Amino acid sequence: MNENDCIKIIEILKETYPDAKCSLDFTTPFEMLVAVILSAQCTDERVNKTTPAIFAKYSTPEDFASVDIEELESLIHPCGFYKNKAKNIKNTAKIIVEKYNGKVPETMEELMALPGVGRKTANVVMLEAFNKPQGIAVDTHCRRISNNIGFSDKSEPEKIEQDLLKVIPEKYYKDVNHIFIWHGRNTCVARNPRCDVCSIKNFCRYYKSKK
Ligand code: SF4
Repeated sequence: MNENDCIKIIEILKETYPDAKCSLDFTTPFEMLVAVILSAQCTDERVNKTTPAIFAKYSTPEDFASVDIEELESLIHPCGFYKNKAKNIKNTAKIIVEKYNGKVPETMEELMALPGVGRKTANVVMLEAFNKPQGIAVDTHCRRISNNIGFSDKSEPEKIEQDLLKVIPEKYYKDVNHIFIWHGRNTCVARNPRCDVCSIKNFCRYYKSKK
């Protein structure tokens, strides 16, 4: 895949999904961070149904740093992996209070050093909370689309991101983070992708291989 074709694909997907944006609800960078931690192995829809009750009671890093862990586990239970997620959220909040004066750090390195925050989460926070996209957050949709179209043959998210960054100009990072997720949810779905109605099928390696 060369850069020209890559840009054509991005432009077509931007036209196909003009409303593509982050689907997690949040009002502060710290709420964004909590929502992304909760979204691991869980749908954004489920997270959005769970967070209003949590954020009504606890919202700041200071709140979460002193929260009763069993109560937090109970509040986030619907999002799955609640024990690990509760522990990571509380420990992350403590570090942000003690080391960063209650402010979510604004670099990938500092974010990725927080408990429960990997490269994907850090990428999402940098983009959505600070509007400073640093790369591509490779989730299940991005991985599937990248493999299908032929952007990358790798399976590890970090390696797929490296392949994507070789052909995607920086000015498109923000768009790609949104349109790949929407394309994966609406058209390039798992198991039976809707290739016949796909706006980028003529660029897709998987589609061409089936013809
Ligand atoms: S043609 Fe099919 S496999 Fe390729 S991107 Fe479109 S929906 Fe996905």
